[in-house]
Amino acid sequence: MSNPHIPLVDLHRHLDGSLRLETMLDLAQQHHLPLPASDVASLRPFAQMGAGPGSVADLLGVGSKFSLVQQVLADYDACRRITWENLEDAVREGIDYVELRFSPLFMGERHGLDPMGVTSAICEAWQEARGRLPVQAKLIVIMSRTYGPEACWAELAAAVAHRDRGVVGLDLAGDEAGFPAHLFAEHYRRAQAADLRRTVHAGEFAGADSIRQAVLELGAERIGHGVHAADDPAVMDLLAERQIAIESCPTSNVQFGVVPGYAAHPLPLFLRRGLCVTLNTDDPGISGIDLAHEYRIARQELGLSEAEVRRLQENGVQAAFLPPGERAALVAH
Ligand SMILES: [Zn+2]
Repeated sequence: MSNPHIPLVDLHRHLDGSLRLETMLDLAQQHHLPLPASDVASLRPFAQMGAGPGSVADLLGVGSKFSLVQQVLADYDACRRITWENLEDAVREGIDYVELRFSPLFMGERHGLDPMGVTSAICEAWQEARGRLPVQAKLIVIMSRTYGPEACWAELAAAVAHRDRGVVGLDLAGDEAGFPAHLFAEHYRRAQAADLRRTVHAGEFAGADSIRQAVLELGAERIGHGVHAADDPAVMDLLAERQIAIESCPTSNVQFGVVPGYAAHPLPLFLRRGLCVTLNTDDPGISGIDLAHEYRIARQELGLSEAEVRRLQENGVQAAFLPPGERAALVAH
């Protein structure tokens, strides 16, 4: 129920949260890796969230759906393949512009792949897709808080080295409560100096103050999730004043227990306070959803009007990490 006259964009989509089940099986077979199931139907419950609520542990990797992804990313070719397939899937969903994000350390962890090599492989697939697949795309490198600030230098270095080969931005994700923003202030200063755009997962598994820190200490231009901004009017005012967009992903928030249900999701509040809130999928493969699903949820579960849904879609175009010329081209398309 998105509007066909406005570009359809997804600004918050994890490359490694969007693997096809068929591909997981295929990679496991190719590299002789064990998986808990050998066909799509039996793999689904291991690889996708069910209808019931999940937990933080599901997201942070302990015995999780994400560790299955790590398991099958056996070499750089696998990284290339899933990037290409992510872009094909975006086309199939009717998406005009997508920003795909990934943590090279996370993706390479199980099989000892080098963060620089993982990023290069992803950028090669991105390059190959340009002009061949009818979707515009940019890449965002994630620093995983969970590995600690020291290890994150390697992720930042990979982002900076690929600045002109598809990577436009830097993100921070992972254990938000255990590794607060200030630990990464120097990383973000360097990213800004290298002309990388900046977003931060904040207010998802920690409170409103984590969002304040992301803005004031990291210079975040966008906030991933930002759910807990709703707990502090001063933080919502800060986001409004600075025109900082929120990358909202309602189904992910419900599945990972960030909110108890759609009815408690603050997206409508953000919209009505004039915040630049956008609608995104987060991990469509793991959530078992697509972007159209989130647009349906916006109308049917969040109770937004058609005009409000249209506003979400327009906000996405406005908040994209695109240079002005490319944004104009996207709108004119
Ligand atoms: Zn995310």
